[in-house]
Amino acid sequence: MRRLILSVVDNGQHICIGAYKYFFDLLKVIGGMEYFQIIEKYDIPYFYDGKFGSLTSKVFSGKFGLLEAIIRDKNFGFKEKINTIIFALKVQMDSISFQNYTDCYELLIRNNQSEKVIKILWEPLIVSTMNTPVRKASPLIFENIMLDGFLSKSQNAAFYLPKVHFGELFKGFESVFLKDENKIYYTTPIKSITEESGKYMVNDEYYDDVVITTPSFISKRILSELPIDIDVPDYSPIVSVYFWSDTKLTDAYMISTVDTGFDWLFNRDKLIDRKSNTYSYQITTSDAVRYAKLKDEVIISMMEEDLRKMFGEEFRITHYKIVRELMATFLADKKNNLKRPKVKTHLQGLYLAGDYSDNGYPSTLEGAAKNGFRAAHYILKRTVK
Ligand SMILES: Cc1cc2nc3c(=O)[nH]c(=O)nc-3n(C[C@H](O)[C@H](O)[C@H](O)COP(=O)(O)OP(=O)(O)OC[C@H]3O[C@@H](n4cnc5c(N)ncnc54)[C@H](O)[C@@H]3O)c2cc1C
Repeated sequence: MRRLILSVVDNGQHICIGAYKYFFDLLKVIGGMEYFQIIEKYDIPYFYDGKFGSLTSKVFSGKFGLLEAIIRDKNFGFKEKINTIIFALKVQMDSISFQNYTDCYELLIRNNQSEKVIKILWEPLIVSTMNTPVRKASPLIFENIMLDGFLSKSQNAAFYLPKVHFGELFKGFESVFLKDENKIYYTTPIKSITEESGKYMVNDEYYDDVVITTPSFISKRILSELPIDIDVPDYSPIVSVYFWSDTKLTDAYMISTVDTGFDWLFNRDKLIDRKSNTYSYQITTSDAVRYAKLKDEVIISMMEEDLRKMFGEEFRITHYKIVRELMATFLADKKNNLKRPKVKTHLQGLYLAGDYSDNGYPSTLEGAAKNGFRAAHYILKRTVK
């Protein structure tokens, strides 16, 4: 008998860190904060050189947790540990001129980080937060992530993993937003925006202020009739494979799959309640240019080979779904970071508040929320006397 299993999949795994302020403020208002699994101490298994290692902090969290994890790590030699700790301290004491480096690889190598430390520690962190290869990633954006998050106070460095499907975090939005005369139009794309006597016409309605939060390449199109130009950045893909196995593979929440073709394995069974008798996981790859055009079967066979290296032969993948986000985020290199527009444009009442507008972060939920708050601030400043 054939069984039909219905499962919701997201467009990819989203992780937040405790340093997210604006995004969490939004969730507090709409009631989404209760849906997170918060991981305060480091407990990250990684697969490297044919076996599992671990970045673990049993005593401390935050920056001291990171230092503890480095000290405990069995793959790093004594000198590597000292150099990594010195580098982290230098970042924290603001004694590195990040703008002088072309990319994060140059930054790390010139600050005595070994290839192994880069591979096990820095690359997973940089590629997953910036969706950009280490040899391209902007050192200034990396500095912000480190100072606000991983080298900050304990609660800022904690990982927040959604225990629900991503969209459920926002299910309270409608009831909070839909009051007074507010309206939400679903499935109503904005085709273009024009300006007439100081007001903006969006589809068929006039507005005093317009906050644009579409991706940059769409913003460019819908704003093409206004005297504003958007310098569209390069984009970077993320490929996620949702798969179900007949056997439990791990108890960890997430595994950094360093020596495989993929970046992270997430244990959806542990995060989101299991509804059938199979085990549910997601494997994800940022900066996934090499997978974007491969056929599903090719990606699955590469993934199976990697999974067998990690977990042995005793499992069978029962079903899967591959999600390719070809323009997932902008590529956070130095060049694209310089292209980012400000939220407040030279046109009165027009704001660009998508994640790509300048906010110091890569494409993140926090960056998008921060820009939204900024746009609201400018509008209130101008309109509320
Ligand atoms: C696979 C993946 C994994 C990610 N992981 C993380 C993570 O772990 N942590 C993190 O912080 N961030 C992560 N991000 C990035 C994060 O999702 C984005 O930075 C954030 O969603 C950007 O928000 P935004 O409002 O700027 O744009 P979006 O969320 O892209 O929203 C733009 C909206 O505009 C709508 N739209 C498009 N065209 C039109 C039109 N013509 N008219 C009207 N509406 C239109 C779209 O439907 C969409 O709803 C990830 C992104 C992807 C793709």
